[in-house]
Amino acid sequence: MAQAECGTLAAYRRHLRAGEDIDEQCAAAVRDDANQRRQIQRSESARAVRTALDGIDSTPDVDPLDDATENLRIVIAAMSTAPANAIAGLSKRRQELVTEIQRLQSATPQLDPLDEIASRRAQRGAWHGNRVRQAR
Ligand SMILES: [Zn+2]
Repeated sequence: MAQAECGTLAAYRRHLRAGEDIDEQCAAAVRDDANQRRQIQRSESARAVRTALDGIDSTPDVDPLDDATENLRIVIAAMSTAPANAIAGLSKRRQELVTEIQRLQSATPQLDPLDEIASRRAQRGAWHGNRVRQAR
């Protein structure tokens, strides 16, 4: 049986089985394979995002504070299941979101919570071009 030539995954595995050192050609084959897998993963997740975006209204009802709060919730949920090597990045993102939420909250005048809900509804209505009828 012909042996796989160096520079292939099969040869790399043969080296491993035989307890041999990995030469540059075989190391390159493993790197290329890993890069290719990562690229496939990236294009698959990009496709998934595009598919998800296609299902969303082209003018989503976005409130920056609601959006940041929702993102923070997602990040916190992700942190509970994320692999150890992802925690640092998620933790940084969480900190950024907390800062952003504080900034947004201090930018909005502090209102009575019920007034605040009413005014946000009014803003959302305005974004959709609907007039909010005032109670008399
Ligand atoms: Zn080799």
